[in-house]
Amino acid sequence: MTSNYENILKGIAAAPGIAISKAFIYQKEKEEVTRELITDPEEAIQNLDIAMEQSKKELRKIFSLAVYKLGEKRGAIFEAQIMILDDPILNTTIKERILKEKHSPEFVVNDEISKYTDMMNLSHETYMKERSQDIEDIKNRIIRNLKKKKWKSKITSDVIVVTSTISPSDTVLFSRVNVKGYVTDFGGLTSHAAIVARSLNIPAVVGLHEATNRIKDDDTIIIDGFRGEVIINPDEAQIGEYNKKIERLNAYDTELLKLRDLPAITIDGREIQLLANLDLTDEVEFIIHNCAKGIGLVRTEQLFEEYEAFPDEDQQYEVYNKIAERIYPENIIIRTFDIGGDKVLPVDLKEPNPFLGWRGIRLLLDNKHLFKSQIRAILRASTHKNVKVMLPMIASMREILESKQIIEECKNELKKEKKHFDKHISVGIMIEIPSAAVLIKDFAEEVDFVSIGTNDLIQYLLAVDRGNDIVGDIYQEFHPAVVRTLNHIITEGKLAGKTVSMCGEMAADPFAVPLLIGLGLESFSVSASAIPQIKKIIRSLEYKDLQKLAKECLILKTEKEIRERVHSFYDLKVQDQVNNIY
Ligand code: PEP
Ligand code: MG
Repeated sequence: MTSNYENILKGIAAAPGIAISKAFIYQKEKEEVTRELITDPEEAIQNLDIAMEQSKKELRKIFSLAVYKLGEKRGAIFEAQIMILDDPILNTTIKERILKEKHSPEFVVNDEISKYTDMMNLSHETYMKERSQDIEDIKNRIIRNLKKKKWKSKITSDVIVVTSTISPSDTVLFSRVNVKGYVTDFGGLTSHAAIVARSLNIPAVVGLHEATNRIKDDDTIIIDGFRGEVIINPDEAQIGEYNKKIERLNAYDTELLKLRDLPAITIDGREIQLLANLDLTDEVEFIIHNCAKGIGLVRTEQLFEEYEAFPDEDQQYEVYNKIAERIYPENIIIRTFDIGGDKVLPVDLKEPNPFLGWRGIRLLLDNKHLFKSQIRAILRASTHKNVKVMLPMIASMREILESKQIIEECKNELKKEKKHFDKHISVGIMIEIPSAAVLIKDFAEEVDFVSIGTNDLIQYLLAVDRGNDIVGDIYQEFHPAVVRTLNHIITEGKLAGKTVSMCGEMAADPFAVPLLIGLGLESFSVSASAIPQIKKIIRSLEYKDLQKLAKECLILKTEKEIRERVHSFYDLKVQDQVNNIY
């Protein structure tokens, strides 16, 4: 037991694991700039150049997306912003001032660009005032990038990052510097940052609300990604207790490793396919190490987070082909860009409801060039016949038919160009929008496979934002509407003779696994780190018990009843010592 409760903060357990380390407060929201003197102006100028370059890259990426949807006029604004960044007079003035005054580049950038915006704001013309906002945006972008550079160099050793919110790209950025954990004030279990933390195998606790207030730089903290707890400046007893837990956890992991080469099969012989989700290219080796039966979801938008503009066909081909060859003879399902929502650039397009907006297949069908370059790259990577393509955010038959037509067009082009590809490449769709769940029978007939995206399906079915901890308690995977909808998708999808898989986070929830298998699900795609535990659970179960469990849950009327039922089943039937760690 812990000896001191005042120093424990409770949040949402977003990625499992335990770490004890120093805190690093990451205050990216603070855009304010203070008059700061520097000692090395040359280095400051170098940093400025890097931040300018980074800002240009970001703007080019936004520009390539924005022109189509927002029209030439709005799109041109981003082009104009790039031109401002290239303005020699502005650049020279800023650099001269840094050299002369020895002020930080953030301060000089802010001061110089504010001169323009202040002047424009004085104007009586609305047009001028509006443009001033655009220039303000550039200023903030440069300052943000200057600060990012600073943060990056500040994180040298194994810290736990404490911040108010975190984006998927922040998570990737930090993973490069050996971060030990993430602690945030806001965010939900299935926000993409949490998903990326799980892929990286880094413990995360989100939605703590007062983390950034209570924790200071260099405080020692314990992050418990199982319980969703953070302990600030633990006493010796707490450290001792947690060191023991870490030991038990390591012993448990060693135990799980013994199952590596064994199949995920129930005691009475029902075999389940356990595949892995891939968010970062580096993960392939870990996926192979954990013996996944292939890759059930590649989040391509995540892979290319670091690229300037969108990677062209050849760049994409190289990445896809490398993964496909490495995972061979297992299969890989490459999902086309699911841009929008909380992933890539939502802020810049300023949509009022990004999760209900221009996202996934909608954006791709509006950007045929981008869509085709990706399909062509996937096709070219399919020569070993182990690649499948999957479409995100499908809501209507029109989207399926139009996408299939584009895939056909790409095949014809490649044929003419005498480029090789798998002529019979499987095409599947994500079932993650309620309309697709309702129409599963018709949709399944049109495609080769379906994969259930519970992260979005739950959010859209229950009208609860997946990334918002304030409504985290009503984002419920055991809501009767969710359970019955899953049953409908699995039953109808299989009746249509198609493989039904699940790649949402529910598939990796140990409590949900027995119910899902009982509902008839035979294929799970989860983060590679979850595979050993899920396998262990499956191997301790009897399918006939699971069918009974599912039948019972399908008639229960409240979330509480279903949750309690699956939990009591778990306690009774599942042999999983992860609980013994506590
Ligand atoms: C999902 O929605 O469940 C899913 C797997 O896709 P993503 O998390 O990338 O939206
Ligand atoms: Mg989704």
